[in-house]
Amino acid sequence: MQMEYTRDHQIQSRLEHIIDRLGLRWLEKSRIVAIRSRGSCSRRTLARVHTISKVVQTGLGMQAHYFIEIISENFDRLSEEEKTKTLIHELMHIPKTMGGGFRHHRPYVTRKAVEKMYERYKSPGIGWFQTLSGGHEF
Ligand SMILES: [Zn+2]
Repeated sequence: MQMEYTRDHQIQSRLEHIIDRLGLRWLEKSRIVAIRSRGSCSRRTLARVHTISKVVQTGLGMQAHYFIEIISENFDRLSEEEKTKTLIHELMHIPKTMGGGFRHHRPYVTRKAVEKMYERYKSPGIGWFQTLSGGHEF
């Protein structure tokens, strides 16, 4: 089947909310774009993150952007909690420099690290303000 891609504004606001809530202030929201795909043959992939290569960045004279693709067939059947965790996971792949590379699964983007971020996301007392003043980073 042909893959179809559309921008997803709902997921976009969800990503922005997560960024604010977790105080991931190094992530420039304008350079993170939510994309929804349909028609994937993969049964397991929930989401993935893409970026623009240095060659394309240079050729177009633009900074790196990151595209978080959610795979409709798999992502949509997750619980709300799992959706949030999946989005946190993908955001964690983006390096602080936002230069066009990725942070790897080990030792950065692990289930444990995602769980920790999710706990922070959920806890009412720990929001972006405390993060900003306390300099807490993962
Ligand atoms: Zn991953």
